[in-house]
Amino acid sequence: MKQEIPYKIYLEEQEMPKQWYNVRADMKKKPSPLLNPATLNPITLKELSGIFCEELARQELDDSTPYFDIPDEIRDFYRMYRPSPLVRAYCLEKKLDTPAHIYYKFEGNNTSGSHKLNSAIAQAYYAKKQGLKGVTTETGAGQWGTALSMACSYFDLDCQVYMVKCSYEQKPFRREVMRTYGAKVTPSPSMHTEVGRQINAEFPGTTGSLGCAISEAVEAAMTQEGYRYVLGSVLSQVLLHQSIIGLETKTALEKYGIKADMIIGCAGGGSNLGGLISPFAGDMLRGKADYEIIAVEPASCPSLTRGVYAYDFCDTGKVCPLSKMYTLGSSFIPSANHAGGLRYHGMSATVSELYDQGLLTARSVEQTEVFKAAETFARVEGILPAPESSHAIKVAIDEAVKCKETGEVKNIVFGLTGTGYFDMMAYQKYNDGQMSDYVPSDEELKTAFAKLPRTKE
Ligand SMILES: *Cc1c(COP(=O)(O)O)cnc(C)c1O
Repeated sequence: MKQEIPYKIYLEEQEMPKQWYNVRADMKKKPSPLLNPATLNPITLKELSGIFCEELARQELDDSTPYFDIPDEIRDFYRMYRPSPLVRAYCLEKKLDTPAHIYYKFEGNNTSGSHKLNSAIAQAYYAKKQGLKGVTTETGAGQWGTALSMACSYFDLDCQVYMVKCSYEQKPFRREVMRTYGAKVTPSPSMHTEVGRQINAEFPGTTGSLGCAISEAVEAAMTQEGYRYVLGSVLSQVLLHQSIIGLETKTALEKYGIKADMIIGCAGGGSNLGGLISPFAGDMLRGKADYEIIAVEPASCPSLTRGVYAYDFCDTGKVCPLSKMYTLGSSFIPSANHAGGLRYHGMSATVSELYDQGLLTARSVEQTEVFKAAETFARVEGILPAPESSHAIKVAIDEAVKCKETGEVKNIVFGLTGTGYFDMMAYQKYNDGQMSDYVPSDEELKTAFAKLPRTKE
């Protein structure tokens, strides 16, 4: 086989981006502003700086600066695991017998096992620079908490993680990785916070939810001197940091003169997808190029494909700013899908707006077929993918199979966000043939939509 394009396209260290790209700067119609939950007016920098570090609050509100310098301290950390490889999936192509060329950007090559470290290190850096003692956060499946504990230990910051109780119990190894990096991990809902005590009183024996853990982490940050809250997805600042994924991908493709036809990513809160597509969407917004972009979400938590575009709370406790996004309603409790990182009721405001403008499409897939795709991928490409990432694999495979039928030679690029070593309970269910698919009914969704907050827009 003649192989002009290597299995792995590695960039040189000096080719790693020196700036993050803010796609909002190139959007004519911008994402709607965050609202203060108390007044329902657009939130100010001063108000936002009470919750987030000041520099991060500034990044959050800035929808006009296209490029932000990546500080040297962050680049030094990135160098430990970046640039990440863009892999040509030759073995998968052969297995599928497809004329399509499949590429994946692999973000799982670090101890946290996912792309989340790209933003964790940035957020820890700005907290340290501001002279804070520490940060608080929530974690569901555990990837974000792990990434943040690594980042905090690097900058010698205290890290307090509220971990959704069912994950705390089901994923003891994730918990221990976090503790090894010095984080304090508390199962949520806990008795440490007012909101945790309220939820425990109202729902005795509850095993928690992401929205509830967010409320606890925010309260913990607000009630301790020298602490701020950090969040690993959904926010515009996170998309900004994750743009490094897309920038590297673009550089790697350009190095070999490859033009992507299709870009696919899984979407939970939208940060990896948003980061991967940002520079490509920027090209589209400037009329420079065209790509088919597909967001893939679980059928059990279909924010884009079945949600509504409206202002909603980002958390169950309704303490966070409101964001206009595709949402299932903050009262919607997703079923126990094994891709924990995709079980979020809302979606990044930027990804939502791009979707609304028709720059990307979305598909929902059921988990059994996702694990089937994960198995196919693992057996030929070697990497054991995270269940979240496997949503993108599923659609990439579907598209490659379509190319086989039509004979089209498309360049398909997808984001492989992480590895699945801590998801073996899910793989066990799949291997035992005991995995089930759950799709919420229209009635269920209607009930949650009815509870959406009323805003001026
Ligand atoms: C958290 C996570 C996701 C989903 O989060 P996004 O913000 O939508 O990117 C996807 N894949 C992995 C491996 C994750 O840890």
